[in-house]
Order: sequence, then structure tokens, then C-alpha cells
Amino acid sequence: MALSILILGSGAATPSVNRNPSGILLKSESSSFLIDCGEGTQLQIRKYKESIQRIDQVFITHLHADHYLGLFGLISTQGLLGRERDLEIFAPKGLKEMIDVQLKITNTYLCFKLIIHEVDCSQSLMIFENKDIQVFSYPLNHKIPCSAYVFKEKIKPRNLIPSKITELKIPVYMRNKIKMGEDFIDDSGKIYANRTLTLDPQKPQSFAYFSDTKVLTKAPDVIQGVDLLYHESTFLHDMQSRAEKTYHSTALQAAEFAVKCEVKKLVLGHFSARYNELTDFVLEASKVFANVEVAKDGKQFFISE
Ligand SMILES: [Zn+2]
Repeated sequence: MALSILILGSGAATPSVNRNPSGILLKSESSSFLIDCGEGTQLQIRKYKESIQRIDQVFITHLHADHYLGLFGLISTQGLLGRERDLEIFAPKGLKEMIDVQLKITNTYLCFKLIIHEVDCSQSLMIFENKDIQVFSYPLNHKIPCSAYVFKEKIKPRNLIPSKITELKIPVYMRNKIKMGEDFIDDSGKIYANRTLTLDPQKPQSFAYFSDTKVLTKAPDVIQGVDLLYHESTFLHDMQSRAEKTYHSTALQAAEFAVKCEVKKLVLGHFSARYNELTDFVLEASKVFANVEVAKDGKQFFISE
């Protein structure tokens, strides 16, 4: 299955009727990862007909309210719906304390295990992996500690050509080994090279989420060449000094960063509530980076298109 992102919230700090605060669902074959969880995120998940219980990992960039306030509701609903699987949350220092206080004061007992991992926002680390994907943190430049997250699929096994299985009577125990690159030797000792038995697997896909940040001056190795970069552009470039002061980026700066990092596609988001119309964001960014779109609540982007 192709990786995709669903925009749950494309707005900045002040929610508006058309733009919820930050939230993105990264969907893979085996799971859904939630990245940021602004107020109202669980309602957005329902509105766009996704499953709250399919989320096993949540990644919070930083502890400004528009990026985490929805967590309390989400956790509570997962409990009410009888969740049993663990929920892992990755977030900067401080979130665990807030959630512990909230659960204690409201005397809430969760029927599932809540595991909160503290993300060190001062360095880039691999913070999570499962059989398909690895997740890396990367320090951003915001008013408070803030981390980007980069999702990279692992290299997939090769695809065994079905007709070769029957033609050469390849035994079951050999099939996985061939998928991992081994040649096949039949009973008579004849060697069949792996490339004659298999097809290339789908190229691993990658996605980077950068919100909120003053644009970084250096292109980090960890996002070099990613398929899709989601970068905040709270302002247009005529408000550059405001962006600077508030530790945010402009559409032009996000596009210049995309060029530096040689990403394949750029999606802009985290728009200030002062902007109703987003056409100027695309116009401004596309002057330096052609493959750019704006995020809209409910819009889905495939990571490789
Ligand atoms: Zn912020």
C-alpha cells in the first residue's frame, strides 16, 4: 500500500471554521501514525472516516497548545471505546507531567497502557522503528523545544515472480531467502540467478514533517531527497520580520529550504488565521520550487506520486 498523509488540521494557533489546529495522519499498510494533535483532532479523524483505534503511535512536535491540546480527548475516547493495545506518545519533556496530572485529578483509569517517550529536541535520533518504518527526530528552531519527525520506510524484500515458483518447483523454505536476494539451486545443481527469479520491490518512501520553526539554514542529511516534505509557512514573505520574531517561516523560505534539501514534493501548512485565500502561498513558493501544494483540512496526499 502506498503511504499517504491526511491533513487533519492546516491552521496555526487560532483555529478557524475551515482550518483546525495542527494534525496529520500518516497511513501505512499496517498502521496510522498521528503527528501533532491540536484541539479537535479526534473530531477531524471521525469527520474524515478514519479509525481512532488504529493509531498506536503519536508524535508531538512541541508543547504549544495548538499542537497537543487534542491529546486529552483522544486518549479519553480511546479508553471509552475499550482500547486494550498500548498507546505510545513521543513528545518533548513536560507532556508526561501534564497527562499524569490530568489523569490524577480527574481520577481516570485507563484500560490500556500509555507509554510516553521523552524526545530530546537538541539532537537527531532514531526514536522508533517497526518492521516497515523508522522514525527520526530532528531539532527545529522555535520559541520552545521543538522536534521535526522524519518517517522512512525500510527496504522491502524483492518480489518473487509467481510463474517461477511453479516452473522451477521452488520449495516453500527457499522462497523467503530468494526474496531477500539469494540465488536458487535446483536438485540437479543448476544455479538460477536471483535477478531472473525476482522483480525489484517498490522503492522505500519517506516523509518529513517540519512544524513549527524559523527556517533552518542548514539542510539536514536526514531529510535529503525525501519524497514529501510538509513544512510550515505561517506567513507570506511580506511578513518575514513577523515570521522571524515569532520563530516561524514564510512560504518562500519553506520553498528555498525544499530546494536545498532536494525533496521531491513540498506541502505547505500551518497558515495564520489572517489568510482566507491560499493561492498566494503557492504562487510565492512555486517561484523557487515547482512541485508545491497547500494543505487543506481533509485533503490526502500520497507520499510518492
Ligand atoms: Zn509553536
